[in-house]
Amino acid sequence: MTEEIQEVSMEQALTEIIDGMLPATENDKNFANSLLNGQYGLRKRGYLTPNQYNAAVKMYDRLQSPPTPDDKTADLGKVYAFMMGARRFLKYPKINLLLNDDTEHPVPLKLYISGARSKYPDTINLVANQNDWYGRVFQDGTWHHPRRINESVMVKIKDLMAKLAEDPATVAVEHGRLTGNCCFCNRKLTDKDHSVKVGFGPVCADHWGLKDFWKMAAKDDRAPAAAHVAHMIKTGKKLNTQNEETADRKRRLKVKRNV
Ligand SMILES: [Zn+2]
Repeated sequence: MTEEIQEVSMEQALTEIIDGMLPATENDKNFANSLLNGQYGLRKRGYLTPNQYNAAVKMYDRLQSPPTPDDKTADLGKVYAFMMGARRFLKYPKINLLLNDDTEHPVPLKLYISGARSKYPDTINLVANQNDWYGRVFQDGTWHHPRRINESVMVKIKDLMAKLAEDPATVAVEHGRLTGNCCFCNRKLTDKDHSVKVGFGPVCADHWGLKDFWKMAAKDDRAPAAAHVAHMIKTGKKLNTQNEETADRKRRLKVKRNV
């Protein structure tokens, strides 16, 4: 009698997996299908071997347990506001960053907002190496990620999210200056419109609410140092470089006179 109940519920469990009612992969579905309908399956033979049974229970338990909502990055409130702002201009706002500083062997990480018809609409998704899904991060930093990500990559992602949460625009500037590409549209930055110096392009500056900053940075004669840039983004003001510039000019004049 007990056996019978177990077999009925096992059939239901396998059917749920095959029908896609749980987050099963194609492999999971194929395996469930072989256990249910295969040559040595439950329907054909009327029972599962202990090994088959244990494997089925293990798979069902794994698929039923939720992802890992206990993991957290920094609070992404500012990043959400930043990306949602860009949605007024762009259907799919994206931020392209690197998980390392090595431009010879870059590990790209793309942030994009999921669509309205997604199971988790309007959430930030992380994609590494073009098509590796590294999970979704909610506004409060709750991070649902796949189990297979290794520990050091997780630490890098958390570091990057913390920087981005603190000041998204500075991260954008630093990425552009490191890689020579705009982090928003991924295009190569060109000298002729000052984008190389600023770290992203004028069109993206418009879309991402950074046009005032862009104009200011583009006008600056010298390529602004990172701290300088960060200050401008935070305060909307240039650092007071008047004295430095005057001293510089005096020095140049001196040199001329000496020649
Ligand atoms: Zn761009």
